[in-house]
Amino acid sequence: MRLVLASGNRGKLAEFAALLRPLEITLLPQSDFDVGEVAEPHSTFIENAIAKARHVCRVSGLPALADDSGLCVRALGGAPGIRSARYADGAGERRVDERNNARLLSELDGEADRCAVFVCVLALLRDADDPRPVIAEGEWAGEILTVPRGHHGFGYDPLFLIPDLGQTAAELDADTKNVLSHRGMAARRLMARLATELAYR
Ligand code: IMP
Repeated sequence: MRLVLASGNRGKLAEFAALLRPLEITLLPQSDFDVGEVAEPHSTFIENAIAKARHVCRVSGLPALADDSGLCVRALGGAPGIRSARYADGAGERRVDERNNARLLSELDGEADRCAVFVCVLALLRDADDPRPVIAEGEWAGEILTVPRGHHGFGYDPLFLIPDLGQTAAELDADTKNVLSHRGMAARRLMARLATELAYR
C-alpha cells in the first residue's frame, strides 16, 4: 500500500515511515505531488487533519495521512490550541519557538493554574470521499513552568513539565519522549487500527 504524508516536514516523514514499515506501507512525501498551500481553516485539530489529508488525496489520487497537533492550556481556554505553531504573530529576531514560548509565559503571567495538554490527531483517508477516515488521537498532560528548562525537542517542550518525572519534555531524550508523548500515543493507536484493517481487507 502506498500512502502520502500530508506534511512538508522531513522529520515527520522519517518518523512515520519507520513506524509504518512493518505494515508494508510505503510512505511518500507530499513534495512528490503538486500539493501547493494546504489550508487549515477549522477550529479543531481533527477537522484540520481531515482537511489536510483530503486535499492531498484529491491531488495525489492516493490514500493520505495527515497530523495536526498543538498545546492547549486550561487557564487560556484551550489556547494556543490550533494556533500553536503561529501563536506569536509577526516576525522578529528570535526563532519562532522562542517567540511562541515568550508569548505563552506572558499570557500566563501571575496565573496559578498551569495545567496544559499536548494534543495530536492523525487522520488517514483512503480517498478524498472516504466516509470513514481512520482517526487516532493522543494527549499528554503536564504543567507550564515559569522558566524554560532543557534543550531537546522543539516548540513548547522547554516549558512543559511532566509532574510525575519532575522533568520537562525538553529534558527527555527522543526515545523517552516518543514513549510518553501525544504523538507517540496517536501513532501507536493508528498502527493498531491499520494492522486490524489490513488483516481483514
Ligand atoms: P504541527 O502539528 O506540526 O503544525 O505543530 C503545531 C505546533 O504545536 C508546533 O509548531 C509546536 O509549536 C506545537 N507542538 C506540537 N507538538 C509539540 C511537541 O511535541 N512539543 C512541543 N511543541 C509541540
